Amino acid sequence: MSIRRGGPLEVYLEDVVRLRKPHPCGSFDWTVVRLGADIGLRCHGCSRKVLLPRRELERRLKLFVSRGPDFETGRESDSTDDGSREMSGSIDAANVLRS
Ligand SMILES: [Zn+2]
Repeated sequence: MSIRRGGPLEVYLEDVVRLRKPHPCGSFDWTVVRLGADIGLRCHGCSRKVLLPRRELERRLKLFVSRGPDFETGRESDSTDDGSREMSGSIDAANVLRS
């Protein structure tokens, strides 16, 4: 499952995401702490929490630094056609090319 398939972004609790622009504290990395219409993120630099609409997170997301345990669970339950999942390592490069 790549980041962009036209559908909603797949994001799970404890995923660590890197955004395109740094937080004012200088950190690019955030841990997902809440899911819903808005995604709760905790800054790795200053531990501040923010809520971002899913769409906004998708726009700002650069790459997944690591995926939470729920991502692994989802992966196992949907393994019939996961050729695209192997592409996760190249998300960063794809986004660099796009920007
Ligand atoms: Zn911060």
